[in-house]
Amino acid sequence: MPVISRPTDPTPARATSGSRRRRAAGAIALLAALLALVGASCQQLNPDNRAAAVPAVTNGSLPMSYLASPGGGCAVYDEALASLKAMIAQAAKDGVKLKPVSCYRDYAGQVAARESWCNRGACQMAAVPGTSNHGWGKAIDFADQNGSLGFDSVGYTWLKTWAGYFGWIHPRTMEADGPVPEAWHWEWVGDGGKMYLGKYFGFGNAPLAEPRGLPFGNVDVIAAQAGAVQVAGWAIDPDQVASIPVHVYVDTSGVPITANQPRADVGAAYPLYAKAPHGFATTIPASPGRHQVCVYAINVSGTGYNRTLKCATVTVPAATPATARASSVGAPAATSSTPATSPTTSTTASTTTSTTTAVARPTPGATPTTTPTGSPSSSATTTTTVAQAGPPMTR
Ligand SMILES: [Zn+2]
Repeated sequence: MPVISRPTDPTPARATSGSRRRRAAGAIALLAALLALVGASCQQLNPDNRAAAVPAVTNGSLPMSYLASPGGGCAVYDEALASLKAMIAQAAKDGVKLKPVSCYRDYAGQVAARESWCNRGACQMAAVPGTSNHGWGKAIDFADQNGSLGFDSVGYTWLKTWAGYFGWIHPRTMEADGPVPEAWHWEWVGDGGKMYLGKYFGFGNAPLAEPRGLPFGNVDVIAAQAGAVQVAGWAIDPDQVASIPVHVYVDTSGVPITANQPRADVGAAYPLYAKAPHGFATTIPASPGRHQVCVYAINVSGTGYNRTLKCATVTVPAATPATARASSVGAPAATSSTPATSPTTSTTASTTTSTTTAVARPTPGATPTTTPTGSPSSSATTTTTVAQAGPPMTR
């Protein structure tokens, strides 16, 4: 059985990089906020502004890599996600439970919405299919704790006061006295919308940190055992839901595997991709001695390129009598089926093998997204794994 990495690790790489990104964006947002406060009296978000089209793609046919999800079956244009989450979080602090009930709407969804309203004799309440701002992932229909938003809802009142600070507006034509009175419909103009060039000020607008379509993931384990190297983690190509290939190189020899093992934590963190499994775990034979192990997520579809998830140097121990001695001395229960998270296991392991553990730190040049997450979780798991295989070595 291959070693399964920590199933409860709640910090997939992208989330971490996102938080780092958000911190950086936070400083910018703070500056922007000051500017906004200074300029607030003369330039509020303009209610005549509307969400802008996404360049080079078709309304209602956004590629997967353009979408991101706050959960709950909602997908939005990825650049809008940070401000959406920040806005929902702030509302919650203020006692208002904002719930996105309808977000990105593909073309078929727009047809269905239009038919539904037309059947009720109110075609104007849904856009002509192919023209909805839901089709850019930049419109959301909200409910609050009392249900769908009306003009007297606490959710509507809160949004009218604060949404602008997060880059979201309620179109003027959708006010109670407008031609399309929809208290629930809000749009993201954090990129400037139709009326302004460039990023519009507002809290929580985070720029993308990397090119769209680039595969992402994390390597939780790179470890040596007698005669082999163990690797485990997860990987996703944001252009597709399906599982993707991962290539593991031991020195110059590559082994293709598929990241198609269940990882509930990854599915929870990336709900858009949860319909397919994205974990991987494998053991690759290797000769005794030092080896460089590199794990690559393969770019399958859309834009992007193959990404180095992690490289590390391990020392595969010789399969000598020392191994047999170790198994009789060490805890026999510490097989690969033991959850790698077991704190006692890792503690004892680290004391016996810390000096001889061959697993290197992530290489400095490695992609920054994978490094922070990898370090805490993998050092624990890795140490454990090495201890299982590793005899109490002499130096
Ligand atoms: Zn709407």
